Amino acid sequence: MVDGLKAYWPNYVGGRWIDGGAGTIAVEDPATGETLAKQALADTGDVNRAIAAARACHESGALSGLRPVERGRMVRRMGEYLLDKIDEIAPVLTLEAGKPLWESRVEIEGAARYFEYYGNQAETLEGRSIPLGGDYFDFTVHEPYGVSAQVIPWNYPVEMAARSLAAALAAGNACVVKTPELDPLTGAYMAEAAEAAGLPTGAVNILCGLGSEAGAALVAHAGVDQIVFTGSVETGKSIARAAADNVVPCVLELGGKSAAIVHRDADMDAVMSSVRWGIFFNAGQVCSALSRLIVHRDVHDEIADRIADLAKSLSVGPGLERPEFGDNMGPMISDKQLERAEGLCRQAESEGATALTGGRRLNRPGYFLEPTVFTGVTPEMTIARTEVFGPVLSVLPFSEDKEAIEIANGTDYGLVAGVFTADLDRATAAMRDLKAGQIFVNEWYAGGVETPFGGYKKSGYGREKGREALWNYVQTKNVAFTVK
Ligand code: NDP
Repeated sequence: MVDGLKAYWPNYVGGRWIDGGAGTIAVEDPATGETLAKQALADTGDVNRAIAAARACHESGALSGLRPVERGRMVRRMGEYLLDKIDEIAPVLTLEAGKPLWESRVEIEGAARYFEYYGNQAETLEGRSIPLGGDYFDFTVHEPYGVSAQVIPWNYPVEMAARSLAAALAAGNACVVKTPELDPLTGAYMAEAAEAAGLPTGAVNILCGLGSEAGAALVAHAGVDQIVFTGSVETGKSIARAAADNVVPCVLELGGKSAAIVHRDADMDAVMSSVRWGIFFNAGQVCSALSRLIVHRDVHDEIADRIADLAKSLSVGPGLERPEFGDNMGPMISDKQLERAEGLCRQAESEGATALTGGRRLNRPGYFLEPTVFTGVTPEMTIARTEVFGPVLSVLPFSEDKEAIEIANGTDYGLVAGVFTADLDRATAAMRDLKAGQIFVNEWYAGGVETPFGGYKKSGYGREKGREALWNYVQTKNVAFTVK
């Protein structure tokens, strides 16, 4: 058994480990369907207490009044704590989220990187001086909002929590984090990291609760000043409505149906590598997954065959048995998500698409879907328009550049998009015409913590990552001085 896995995981509010007012929830191992541990489940009372703790921290100035370089150091220490404990955290993450052990390590390293990056940015939130002439001096200051509410999705529970926590804390906000009910356990390490880093009491509160109860209560609470959400469009809309009722800003990151266009002159090895990462990493449960490949007809069959071979070569099974980087993939997060993905595969076939490989669950316990490649997909099909959130790639042919761009832009989403070509003019035109918040030229997922990330259209609004994300967590105050 894994050393770090405890039988029971409490919530963390106001610097104390507490039980849940709603009791507990059983957390499953997606590789077996068996219960791993019990997690405390927050009710509305717990949510209220967490917001009160964050508010008290904010009003006291214990966090917001720190010299930014000090706050930044604490934020950086949180990342160092995660790295120090990576050997303990990674197996727990793999057990609760399913991903191969090496992917868990990649996720934790990514989380640490957020703390490093935003810790370093804490002292860079400078205002500006605005010339008004004559008897005036004018300048701006950026102040934290106060209490930041953060609703975390299950696909990257550690990294997504780090993404919003790091930037919010660096800017001086106290935070209440609602971890996902499916894989909440690793949230405890964020609380431990905050304690180890010396953050003031109430700066970081971590609670698991049901989205429809604790999550809804959190985002609707009048004591929350700012909201960050990553998840589905439907839940995102309800959060935006709650934010509107309290007139507070929210950042919504809502997934996509992202496409890469592959031209005849593309470097095919680069395409294959991008497909491997783009749709099979984390079993395709990635908001910016490469879920549609739009391929020039002249190279369509060759590429489709190569991708089918790649999909078949992946070793699919429990994440703990897959410790090393390689051609492997874990289960999906839950039976519900697997059923949904399998249902979309059946629908694709009934609408006329062909499964070159995959499309079925594995005949074993756990929530495993075969790595799946569909050809014969047309832009109108459900599989071409709906986010599967699983290891399912749709390949669509094109003849003219304009047609490829139209197909790529032809969904409700606009999170990321890509183009593979050796032709600079073509790449530049695609970069200009693709409607998405991030464009990848010749490598899917190029970029990092430093590069702004967020959606066009129904993929949401606001930006995470990069310098841009800091602006989610501060409001600008203008000060005009009159000299008499
Ligand atoms: P949700 O959007 O429902 O869940 C995401 C987070 O929101 C979870 O922490 C959830 O809590 C919480 N939540 C749910 N309802 C509310 C609410 N009313 N108020 C506040 N918080 C709430 O996604 P699902 O897990 O149901 O997944 C469905 C689909 O969403 C996926 O198939 C995928 O397409 C998309 N998705 C996209 C993600 C992305 O990265 N953009 C991430 C996750 C899902 P809890 O789980 O604890 O109930």
